[in-house]
Amino acid sequence: MQGNMMFQPLLISSLIEHAEQYHGDTEIISKNTDGSMTTTDWKHISRHAKQFAQCLKNLNVEQGQKVATIAWNNHRHLESWYAISGSGLICHTINPRLFPEQLIYIINDAQDQVILFDKTFLPLITGVKEHISCVKHFICLDDYDEAIVEALPEVLFYDDLIHAQTADFVWPQLDEQSASSMCYTSGTTGNPKGVLYSHRSTVLHSYAISLPDSLNLSAQDAVLPVVPMFHVNAWGTPYAAAMVGAKLVLPGPKLDGESLVSLIDEYQVSIALGVPTIWQGLLQAAKQVGSTLSSMNRNVVGGSACPPSMIESFKHDFQCDTIHAWGMTETSPLGTANQLKAKHAQLSQAAQFKLRLSQGRPPFGVQLRLASEENGTETVLNDGCTAGNLQIKGHWIVESYYGQKQNALTEDGWFDTGDIATLNEDGYLTICDRSKDLIKSGGEWISSVELENIAIAHPDIEVAAVIAAQHEKWDERPILIVKPVANSQVTEMDIIEFYSDKIAKWQIPDRVVFVDTMPIGGTGKILKKDLREQFGSVLSNIA
Ligand code: AMP
Repeated sequence: MQGNMMFQPLLISSLIEHAEQYHGDTEIISKNTDGSMTTTDWKHISRHAKQFAQCLKNLNVEQGQKVATIAWNNHRHLESWYAISGSGLICHTINPRLFPEQLIYIINDAQDQVILFDKTFLPLITGVKEHISCVKHFICLDDYDEAIVEALPEVLFYDDLIHAQTADFVWPQLDEQSASSMCYTSGTTGNPKGVLYSHRSTVLHSYAISLPDSLNLSAQDAVLPVVPMFHVNAWGTPYAAAMVGAKLVLPGPKLDGESLVSLIDEYQVSIALGVPTIWQGLLQAAKQVGSTLSSMNRNVVGGSACPPSMIESFKHDFQCDTIHAWGMTETSPLGTANQLKAKHAQLSQAAQFKLRLSQGRPPFGVQLRLASEENGTETVLNDGCTAGNLQIKGHWIVESYYGQKQNALTEDGWFDTGDIATLNEDGYLTICDRSKDLIKSGGEWISSVELENIAIAHPDIEVAAVIAAQHEKWDERPILIVKPVANSQVTEMDIIEFYSDKIAKWQIPDRVVFVDTMPIGGTGKILKKDLREQFGSVLSNIA
């Protein structure tokens, strides 16, 4: 016998309708590409979304087709997201920092019909245009601009398009399992692979990230997604903000520490989200300009491991709790978030801090397990110290990659993340490394994350990365690549000495390489692949 309750499909359009109806006057603050600010609200975001949905319909883009965006986090981008997914099209967010060949590959792979772009990315578009014949329309997310027309005569302008429409578009009732948006994985090996999210997975993920033990989002929050909308949908915050009626502060292109500090202070941001490299810049800038970041009571760090010194600085210098979270493109992205339980109040401050360093535990809706490294079908103990291959399943976890017939799961239905991790009895996850970043020295594993966390705590080091260098005797040995802070006199010996009382001698990096710039990828993560290519053989002649 079935229950007698209503069935309503879980649709992205219902999020924006809710935001318009119940939080219409809640502000959306947007920094535009030219540096000017726009203040709007959920009511106007919703209306513009309907106007733009009508424009897409007029352009004969059909349900199930893809509309790509190459854009910063701003209000037009947000409106277009709801317009695209809400009307049954698929919103393909593209990372503008991809190489032209990768751009061409993913646009053709996705068969994008329309590209929406910020002015900044005009050269990117004109550079690849002749290789992307699937694209029928180019829409500049801005007002009319003669210079853009000269470079791209067929261009349409977002503001012109929406102002010619009324807002009486009616969102279609879609199958909740239909595709809503897509992101490509970073593609460190081989071509990038498309992950196709559904309306259902997106709405369920929005509930999950809003829960108190996840990001604890509410209508009292002002949320600053520093993480780009092209990096796993800004970790789902534009959807969750509409669900809970939070204010959004969209930072546009300038993500340097000083710009972020002034946005946080001026618009009273309560929670901000980003990768560790962003926070490094922000902490420095806040100290320099003397800001206490008084409105910000929590920040979310994910994408790479959060160094302990960063969590400490946020807490002690800014009274801000860091939520360390883990996820990936294939997991929408939230897999875990770090919040303590009631029983942890009895622990000492030091023990609580140690627990907060881990990547946290899964919310309802996803499950984690560790598969044995030797035998993929066996699981290992959740004792907080035995490491295994991290596998995940749940409502917002990928089943198969776009265009691939075979599913991407283990025989018994789990997705293997490629991360090596431990889990404790309560499910708190600690990522030891990406399997490809671990260093195998004389048959023993060394975690690059652990060595980087130590390095970054050194006051003279701004950014640090540890990679495996080939070694004749030990196969691989860790080397440390650092970008020192400005005017630093720190030497290789100082840094090696810094490690001496913190880890076993055999784990200390063999070499410290100083660089002026660290290669950073489109999502703000250090490109270890490039570092391995450049420095992987610096020890080769040393026995
Ligand atoms: P992406 O799909 O590009 O976001 O990359 C996902 C990968 O980033 C994961 O498989 C992890 O290796 C890494 N990652 C994400 N969050 C964390 C974290 N909090 N700590 C350590 N690694 C992380």
